[in-house]
Amino acid sequence: MNTNDRFFDPNIPDEMAASIRPKVLSDFIGHDSLKQNLSVFVSGARSRGEAMDHVLLYGPPGLGKTTLAHIVANELGTNFRATSAPMLTKQGDLAAILTALEPMDVLFIDEIHRLPTAIEEVLYSAMEDFKLDIMLGEGPAAKSVRIDLPPFTLVGATTRTGLLSNPLRDRFGIDLRLSFYSPEDLAKIIIRSATILGTPISADGALMLARSARGTPRIANRLLKRARDFATALKCPQITADTIKTTLVQLHIDECGLDEIDREYMSTIIRHYAGGPVGIENLAAALSEPSDTIEDVIEPYLMQLGFVQRTPRGRIITDAGYKHLGLEK
Ligand code: ADP
Repeated sequence: MNTNDRFFDPNIPDEMAASIRPKVLSDFIGHDSLKQNLSVFVSGARSRGEAMDHVLLYGPPGLGKTTLAHIVANELGTNFRATSAPMLTKQGDLAAILTALEPMDVLFIDEIHRLPTAIEEVLYSAMEDFKLDIMLGEGPAAKSVRIDLPPFTLVGATTRTGLLSNPLRDRFGIDLRLSFYSPEDLAKIIIRSATILGTPISADGALMLARSARGTPRIANRLLKRARDFATALKCPQITADTIKTTLVQLHIDECGLDEIDREYMSTIIRHYAGGPVGIENLAAALSEPSDTIEDVIEPYLMQLGFVQRTPRGRIITDAGYKHLGLEK
């Protein structure tokens, strides 16, 4: 089967998407100084035969936190174990995971800011001394037991460091912040993914797609797959700038990468609250979206574009935001 046959086959297995995720540091595009530092920390730990220090990764969704955690385990040559804070409801849940670790393993906890306090407290001694202190039983008969754990590296990911308690944050030796990607870096990610998917894309098409991907690799890859569908429907042998234009129009995504929800967010503040300030809870009710989604998914990119400001009194639409919607202040 040649590349074009595959390109026209709508049934390209979705597992291919998994292969898009970079597995080694050299395939992770962008964030050069972060990668350089991480590679020094990894090789230091490897050559000393120690567990690497705990890592806190933070940044909006889709920027590569899970990917980097996988890469750390790969580069350290250890097992990767993953869980997510909302799945840990009892101390025993965490204890079961920690006691199953092998020496030097990487344990990834996603959304670590959501850990219940009682579980977070168990993590303190596990992170600091590789000891697990848990209470067995309840009431006067309860007794505390201490279990030795193998040395391990905790990689915590969060979209909001502000919600992390100080004692937990202080226990991470390595703090890495992922910011939005430049269109040039996103274009490289798109071309890499397109190659893996066997979907040719022109350089100007990749850059146009990159500019509409909100600085976010996950969105870039998702738009690439939709553009591939449109190219297939239009019987184009490769994705071009024209295919991208059609894709963006059909998906109601504008030239800055904003979609209907973003525009609804901005126009709600303008129409109902005279451009702001408006508090997050009022906004969440008006939009019927959870406030977490607004804060984690919608606002960071709008703030990066300078269309929205967060002030102590609430959210405000800036002059640039009005201009983008074609409205007068
Ligand atoms: P997060 O955990 O921050 O929500 P992920 O690590 O799941 O984000 O990344 C989303 C997707 O974007 C991954 O599947 C991966 O394919 C891609 N990706 C993220 N960062 C990069 C990067 N720097 N280079 C190439 N692809 C990336």
